[in-house]
Amino acid sequence: MNRNQVLPQVELSADPSALHRVDFCAPQSYKGAGFLAISAMPRLAEEVSSIDAGDGFHWQVDTYFTDSPGSEPHQILQLRLKGRLHLLCQRCLQDSAFDLAEERQFVMVATEAEADAYPIEDDQQEPLVASQHFDLLELIEDEILLSLPLIPKHPEGACEAHASSFGENGAEDDELEKPENPFNVLKNMKKSS
Ligand SMILES: [Zn+2]
Repeated sequence: MNRNQVLPQVELSADPSALHRVDFCAPQSYKGAGFLAISAMPRLAEEVSSIDAGDGFHWQVDTYFTDSPGSEPHQILQLRLKGRLHLLCQRCLQDSAFDLAEERQFVMVATEAEADAYPIEDDQQEPLVASQHFDLLELIEDEILLSLPLIPKHPEGACEAHASSFGENGAEDDELEKPENPFNVLKNMKKSS
């Protein structure tokens, strides 16, 4: 019999404080969605350069049980994230908006040892140790932090400093950024050999 048809599906509260304690040991699956402001995630709030109206993340969680013959059924957690935040561009040191969309899948396991033994080549889903008071908000914040660009930058040519200096000394910029003529490079190579 399919476990998902007998077990109740519980609606997760969209209240950020309720996401701090979710019982993943209970015989039930979950579904839910909501929006988290940057201020609801203190570690993320430290990473952003500014907070604009509308910055934050829509989240969606769905869980279900897998039935694999001969083993305990595992609860699978699907997490979808979509949102926007502002980071400091490392080229011009101005705020830059970043739109992020992530989709992750996890498998709930009973113990830390079981998580350690989980096949590392399975990059489709990561193990999470289930508990009666699992911090789902922390997981969401972790995943957003992991998806941040390593070196945040405006798209090429979109930096404000670059755009404003272009009119004043465009010729100079042009000189600096002009790639060396490949034929000259070839000539020089031939000369030196
Ligand atoms: Zn920039």
